[in-house]
Amino acid sequence: MEVALSSVKLARRVTNIRVSPSTAAAQKARDLKAAGRNIVDLTVGEPDFDTPDSIKNVAIEAIRDGDTKYTPVNGTVALRKAIQQDYATRLGIECALDTICVGGGAKQILFLALTATVEKGDEVIIPAPYWVSYPDMVVANGGTPVILRCGEDTGFKLTPQALADAITPATRWVVLNSPSNPTGVAYTAEELKALGEVLGRHPHVLVLCDEIYDRIWYADFPACSIVSVVPELADRALVVNGVSKSYAMTGWRIGYGAGPKDLIDAINKLQSQSSSCPSSISQAAAAAALTGDQATVTETVEVYRERCERAWERLNAIEGLSCVKPDGAFYLYPNCSGVIGKTTPEGKKIESDLDFVIYLLESAGVATIHGAAYGLEPYFRLSTATSKEILEEGCDRIERACKALR
Ligand code: PMP
Repeated sequence: MEVALSSVKLARRVTNIRVSPSTAAAQKARDLKAAGRNIVDLTVGEPDFDTPDSIKNVAIEAIRDGDTKYTPVNGTVALRKAIQQDYATRLGIECALDTICVGGGAKQILFLALTATVEKGDEVIIPAPYWVSYPDMVVANGGTPVILRCGEDTGFKLTPQALADAITPATRWVVLNSPSNPTGVAYTAEELKALGEVLGRHPHVLVLCDEIYDRIWYADFPACSIVSVVPELADRALVVNGVSKSYAMTGWRIGYGAGPKDLIDAINKLQSQSSSCPSSISQAAAAAALTGDQATVTETVEVYRERCERAWERLNAIEGLSCVKPDGAFYLYPNCSGVIGKTTPEGKKIESDLDFVIYLLESAGVATIHGAAYGLEPYFRLSTATSKEILEEGCDRIERACKALR
């Protein structure tokens, strides 16, 4: 039987958004690998470790015990208690159980928070470089992303002045992602306090705190949330986190948020009409991850730290590249302005970070993602969540490719 080509008319909220560029780049790397090319893939933003056995075993027990039914829409009490405890002990944030919601990944919580609050014409301030999904999530929900360039001169961070200048009566949210994907930089308590002072003058602005990487921490100052240092913001901040990155649980799809009750209720209402609840089994596993022995997290963070430092040193030693040292997460975001304008051995001029990334992929077999995808050029992102050997090989190839430019 012949399958007819579909001509479904899609809604503008879908046609206006892109497929995540990082997913697209990872796919290109996979396609080349499948075609037999030897590719060092540094695109992937997820732990290369497996979920610890202690966590897997809890999930297996949950299945055996018949913990296989719908859970409350906002997540099981056990998991919400674990989140409550975690936010209190690590961040000093006290929240009631009914001000915590659990969803299918931090991504879903962020998306639903925007769905719950953003209307046409509403603005969402997104510091660039940003995680690729924020602008599209805003657009998908009918809002307008307001991209604020935060260059290396301010450590890739939003300054109080830039925030103050960007706020308008239409501003609904400001996004604070710390440590950041793609740069790894994190805000200090003092910096958050200064941003909090600006927000204090604009009570209509909500704060979307994406802290998904805050356990993967290298800096010598402690991780903190804007709500920890400016507690008055608790009634208009959503503190988002999840188990994907810290516990190597990306496929289990559990993320969560804590915030004002009316916002959490709205997110729950949306979830009740879309997915009902996240997986009962994954929730049992996530509760075990948060309440169990944290030794594996400490060990894996040490491994991430070593790899990150080594790759950071190597990239900084390459002529044409320079890289800010990350405070956390598992990415590097080198500046490649020194290679722009150069010519490849094939005679092609490198005019943008996209040209450079394509050159790295095609001629050196290293897959990375161009900075323009994150809203700040000329840079490229590479993930250090891969083995030391692969990272060394990747750095060797990048070094050779840069040396070959004229
Ligand atoms: N925020 C940032 C900054 C991320 O990098 C990611 C994952 N790429 C997420 C949120 C989503 O994580 P989750 O797996 O919990 O949906």
